[in-house]
Amino acid sequence: QLILGIESSCDETGVALVRAGAAQTEAPTLLAHALHSQVEMHQAYGGVVPELASRDHIRRVLPLTEAVLRDAGAQLSEIDVVAYTQGPGLAGALLVGAGVACALAAALDRPVLGVHHLEGHLLSPFLSADPPQFPFVALLVSGGHTQLMRVDGVGRYGLLGETIDDAAGEAFDKSAKLLGLGYPGGPALARLAEDGDPAAFKLPRPLLHSRDLDFSFAGLKTAVLTQANRLGAGLQERRADLAASTQEAIVEVLVRKTLAALAQTGLERVVVAGGVGANRRLRERLDAACRARGVRVHYPELHLCTDNGAMIAMVAAMRLQAGLEQARADYRFEVRPRWDLASVGAAVA
Ligand code: ATP
Ligand code: MG
Ligand code: FE
Repeated sequence: QLILGIESSCDETGVALVRAGAAQTEAPTLLAHALHSQVEMHQAYGGVVPELASRDHIRRVLPLTEAVLRDAGAQLSEIDVVAYTQGPGLAGALLVGAGVACALAAALDRPVLGVHHLEGHLLSPFLSADPPQFPFVALLVSGGHTQLMRVDGVGRYGLLGETIDDAAGEAFDKSAKLLGLGYPGGPALARLAEDGDPAAFKLPRPLLHSRDLDFSFAGLKTAVLTQANRLGAGLQERRADLAASTQEAIVEVLVRKTLAALAQTGLERVVVAGGVGANRRLRERLDAACRARGVRVHYPELHLCTDNGAMIAMVAAMRLQAGLEQARADYRFEVRPRWDLASVGAAVA
């Protein structure tokens, strides 16, 4: 079965073609994928402009689909199922992917399947050369979400804890903005931090010692702002130190809470997913802490940490293979800008 996946929830248009495994236990394979990031377009505004995002998805989605088919050496008529991101995300952006997917499926007389974007991030490590095995603890750290989940199988997700305010990616982005770095700030802040001292500034580690697995990052940007104001004109030469200290505060909380989730569940495997999973310092510190405890850590391939179509096609393939889903030849569609991941399968907290 060939599955086309279309992602358009935010500011990346992603398309991919995946072949589902023949047997239920056989992993799906990624045949080709293509991506267009709108980062440059939104840079001038310091953040994503929803209306511009929707319009750009319209421009990109068909050329990307053609490129994917060309790369895979496949014909449009060979597609068996069309999958698209149904939510969560920007309503207008989601509507583009959903509309195109349903129109394409209708024209081809093939079924469609709406996919949860976060389930895409969650299962993206299955596209790597060293895929994880169930069960595992998942640390989902993206631009809009920060969650710890217990994952027992495809569609079997239990929420262990989550942020009560900003997401980790948001903390990176907002702190980066305060340091005068462009959008999206996460990668830029991480680069600047390479030359800084992570112990230079004392910044808060919110909820580090709370007994639950929740996170809070809103106070961090206030603390960064306070430090920046205090430095005044001296900020320029201390920017790398402040960046490194900020990154360290975020990373330390993420690592500690992940270890607490392992202790609480008794599981011995961790999967990190979402854009912040690309952060080198997080990988370093989590790897070291887990190695000391005999715990395996799995990451998506670096280029599949942020939004892409491959993870969407992958979720469709895995859910279909697991018998959780029947792709439907019903081309009415609705998008779900707000959509809880725990509602996607049997919750197993
Ligand atoms: P969501 O998936 O929650 O809807 P999103 O799709 O915008 O949000 P992703 O594409 O998964 O999120 O990730 C983007 C986020 O990852 C941004 O906040 C970005 O700053 C952050 N990010 C990317 N690379 C790095 C890095 N190397 N270090 C820190 N943060 C990073
Ligand atoms: Mg993005
Ligand atoms: Fe995402």
